[in-house]
Amino acid sequence: MSDIVFLNGEFVPLEKARIPVLDRGFIFGEGVYEVIPAYSRHPFRQPEHLRRLQRSLDAIRLANPMTDAEWTRLIHDLIARNVGEDQSIYLQVTRGAAKRDHAFPKDAKPTVFMMSSPLATPTREMVERGAAAVSATDYRWLRCDVKVTSLLANCLLRQHALDAGVEEVVLFRDGYLTEGSACNVLVVRNGTLLAPPKNHLVLPGITCDVVLELAAAKSVPVEVREITQDEVLSADELWLTSSAKEVLAITTLDGRPVGSGKPGAVFKAIHQAFQEFKRKVMRQAA
Ligand code: PMP
Repeated sequence: MSDIVFLNGEFVPLEKARIPVLDRGFIFGEGVYEVIPAYSRHPFRQPEHLRRLQRSLDAIRLANPMTDAEWTRLIHDLIARNVGEDQSIYLQVTRGAAKRDHAFPKDAKPTVFMMSSPLATPTREMVERGAAAVSATDYRWLRCDVKVTSLLANCLLRQHALDAGVEEVVLFRDGYLTEGSACNVLVVRNGTLLAPPKNHLVLPGITCDVVLELAAAKSVPVEVREITQDEVLSADELWLTSSAKEVLAITTLDGRPVGSGKPGAVFKAIHQAFQEFKRKVMRQAA
């Protein structure tokens, strides 16, 4: 069975979906997107994802082509039309096709695209082993808080990690932690969970928010503040969070073990809390 995607008002098989080459998403990378995990066919934290989509659209000065009720209906429809209980729902809006000119076109119609892929959360073995990462300089632009489709720097940084034989980069700008190429990064020092402030240098991660809420609920002290590179390099634990990876320990950084080199005690407690929270939310949605 072929994947069914949504493009500009209709559901079509993936191989039938076509956009004009003058689409500004293709020409300029001018669009925004979201990735929403769906567990047991129920979208997780969907209102938060739609709120972030609105924020991204506002940032690029593009009117939302649909209401939240329309997005909700389409997301459920897309999930129903695709196989798999756990799906990763991708949605993208670009400014549409127009004669190539940097200035915004007067009458272009936004292109709306949605697809579903299998949601591949980390295996038990990956959770128990943790991920390896390398440090890198964050040379992305100064609006990393906006989820834009122009991801060239993120692709280069992810490939840098893969070329080094590891999964992710831990990015630093001017000596301070920002995030990873496709995830947020959290630090544990002396039992306190540290998170970089939400500003223009990091994406406000939906999973990161869940993890910070769960930590607070478990009485883990949480501090949101600038984190120096030295604090990261001497951390007891490092975690990454994203919709695809959920929460995963980073157990080696630049070839050296982080803390004991194994997922730490605080990680284990929060990872378990995350799995329980997910099950609870899905039970309520069913
Ligand atoms: N930062 C970046 C750069 C990302 O690409 C992602 C994943 N979309 C995240 C953080 C994590 O965000 P979320 O938890 O909402 O998936």
